[in-house]
Amino acid sequence: MASLSSWKEIPLGGLIKEPQSSRYNKTGSWRTERPVLEQDACIRCTLCWVYCPEPAILELPKPYTTKKGIKYNVTYEINYDYCKGCGICSQVCPTKAIKMVPEVS
Ligand code: SF4
Ligand code: SF4
Repeated sequence: MASLSSWKEIPLGGLIKEPQSSRYNKTGSWRTERPVLEQDACIRCTLCWVYCPEPAILELPKPYTTKKGIKYNVTYEINYDYCKGCGICSQVCPTKAIKMVPEVS
């Protein structure tokens, strides 16, 4: 019966050789549903930005005025390169400004 290797003989694994290399892993390709954000329904509460596990919600310094004339200094947008379509943002949004729709290629 072959003897087992000691832990000192096992090669190192899980090394991160290049910091921030996870940006090359575009997790958006996993998605079956995509979140669609309705800017006029968004009250800029930040909850989607806080809860997104990727994070794939971007908080951008882009002014936006709603059709009713409400002015905001920031805009939330979704980075579809990394959004996995988990739907958490849609669940936490208090105004239902984010709807999940089927992903079509
Ligand atoms: S669906 Fe999930 S991964 Fe995509 S933006 Fe919403 S919370 Fe983030
Ligand atoms: S959770 Fe909804 S209302 Fe709040 S910032 Fe996100 S999209 Fe806007």
